[in-house]
Amino acid sequence: MSSPPWLRSLNLIVSTPENALICTLCRRALRVHPRLVQQHLTEAHSISASRQTQVPDLGTLLLTDISELSARADFCPEDPSLTTTPGFACGHCSSRTTSQQLLRRHLSSQHNIKHLDTIADRDYRPVSLQQWTTSGSAGRQYWIVLAIPRAVTLTPLPTYRKRKRPLPLSHRKC
Ligand SMILES: [Zn+2]
Ligand SMILES: [Zn+2]
Repeated sequence: MSSPPWLRSLNLIVSTPENALICTLCRRALRVHPRLVQQHLTEAHSISASRQTQVPDLGTLLLTDISELSARADFCPEDPSLTTTPGFACGHCSSRTTSQQLLRRHLSSQHNIKHLDTIADRDYRPVSLQQWTTSGSAGRQYWIVLAIPRAVTLTPLPTYRKRKRPLPLSHRKC
């Protein structure tokens, strides 16, 4: 669905093919109830009520609420209207995370890879991740996108700073 000009003037677009409502300033999907959209525009972007007079028309656009959105398929192109976060995909299951700490915890608890020195390239893959939103519980599932390769900087975690050896986690392009 193409986004009507009045919607674009509020920095909102409708995604294809999901019909999700995306705030291009926040780069995430929004709840589609007009009152919640008005609240977002007012509180997050200080947009006056006089510019929001068409927001009640959202109901006619047959939008998909966050609660009904499922993650996109992995390895679809990066969507510039959504936030992209560098992260990691587990090499042994479909788990993915943006947190190095959670990756280590996952490898330890789920795959019995408990020692940093034994984490190998096959255990994880640096990836670019997108999700519909970062708030609430719905729409937070990550999918892997084909992004323009960019450096992923792994900073040592505080608990590992005393180690003399460098972290064995290296990065490579997606
Ligand atoms: Zn916003
Ligand atoms: Zn796993």
